[in-house]
Amino acid sequence: MQSVLSQTRSRMIFLWVVLYGSLVWADMRFLSAILDLNTVTLLNISSGLAVILFQHFGTRLVLPLTVAGALGHGLAAIARIESVHLITGLLFGACLTLTPLISSWIWKKLYPHCLDSVSALFRFLIIGCLVPALGMIALISIPLYLDEQLISGRIQFLAVEFAVTYTTAVLMSVSLYTAWQRVGIDFGKITRMRVAYVLCVFLLTLFSFSVFPGSIFIVLALLIYIAFAGHWRTLLIALCTLIATTIVMVPINMGAFDIPDIHNGVLALLIYILTTVLASISISIQVMELKNAVAARDSWQLKASLDPLTGVVNRYGLLPELAIEYEHARRARYRYTIAVFDVDHFKQFNDNYGHLAGDQVLKDVAGIITDTVRQNDLVARYGGEEFVVIFRNTRASDATHVAERIRERIAASVSHIDDQSLTYTVSCGLAENHTDDIHPERIFDRADDCLYQAKKTGRNRVVVAPPP
Ligand code: GH3
Ligand code: MG
Ligand code: MG
Repeated sequence: MQSVLSQTRSRMIFLWVVLYGSLVWADMRFLSAILDLNTVTLLNISSGLAVILFQHFGTRLVLPLTVAGALGHGLAAIARIESVHLITGLLFGACLTLTPLISSWIWKKLYPHCLDSVSALFRFLIIGCLVPALGMIALISIPLYLDEQLISGRIQFLAVEFAVTYTTAVLMSVSLYTAWQRVGIDFGKITRMRVAYVLCVFLLTLFSFSVFPGSIFIVLALLIYIAFAGHWRTLLIALCTLIATTIVMVPINMGAFDIPDIHNGVLALLIYILTTVLASISISIQVMELKNAVAARDSWQLKASLDPLTGVVNRYGLLPELAIEYEHARRARYRYTIAVFDVDHFKQFNDNYGHLAGDQVLKDVAGIITDTVRQNDLVARYGGEEFVVIFRNTRASDATHVAERIRERIAASVSHIDDQSLTYTVSCGLAENHTDDIHPERIFDRADDCLYQAKKTGRNRVVVAPPP
């Protein structure tokens, strides 16, 4: 079983290496020649792919990928440019493969969470992409110079063009790889709206290279909108669409970048793509950070407003709910009822059976109250052995029936604690809101007075506040 798995893995690695070599070859042989500028790679998919392969399969790929890259680039170079030496082509190909190795190492060791914050992303782009790319150009310029390939102005163009396309490719592949690693492929999430976003990006890009060049900037606005909407993977697919459409259209029409000096036009286009990718991904990261912070805050807020023993809302959760219900009822002119339940002789119960038995009773009482009221009503532990229910949009006459049912169920229930079957009762005070209540606590005070009456008149009973 183990050997079958490792065989499949080796075959997969072999296929990836062949694909990488072919991409480098195709890039040098055809894509780079698209605009007849010799060095324009436009896409640099091979570098992006190499970063992912090193990240995924580790350093065992160094030798096979370097050989594939050197051969792919070397053979394509001598086939396309007569004056270049094979050794220069091979060297260029090897350096082209070792640069992604450095980026991949920096990603893994220094910035493994580069997509979790915008500052980490920018640091990774400068240290992990721009610096290795410029270093590689500096290194390769020596054999290129000896081969007399560096005619005036060419090295600046080569350096900027390679650094920009390399950074774009690495940024895109790191983002795609991370998105795929985190959530896998989930086709269920593909909605009509998301397909429409990608289609719009495609059509607007197409439009910008054929009819109206200015629409390329509308694409930027649309991508920023997708990023703000938090559609992380839709954004990545839309960015791939923008890049792929641009590559296909550029040889036919340079669109908004059709300026007299083609070198400047190409650089402007490449920088436009890099800044668009960078800006929209940065916004996406910021949106994700914000969403995570809000989710963490909500979860803490929920935990802080729940009573850990019984699981119902605690006093801190109850007070704002009382105020909200008071405000709603005042504005919509409806009635609601508050009930206060208190376990009878609970101190004595604790003294007789211990605190653990008392805790079990509190849990059972909270469970019975929660099960008896409607889901819309709010159950809270106000303190000690006192529970409060907000019967939303309910008159006291109806709430009294429910409170009676709760009292009866509790009186009939038995808590089993340490082989003992214990019974207990509760008393309840109940009050409805008045239109002239000037404070949400007024209704609560009336319910509390009724609870006091219930205790005074023998306990295990419900007392309702008289109408005003
Ligand atoms: P009454 O019928 O008049 O309400 O008498 P009571 O004994 O229930 O009233 P009192 O307010 O004197 O006692 C409340 C007791 O509740 C005192 C305290 O020890 C107990 N208590 C408060 N919180 C907890 C708790 O979390 N767990 C347990 N086991 N007991 C608690
Ligand atoms: Mg009590
Ligand atoms: Mg009490």
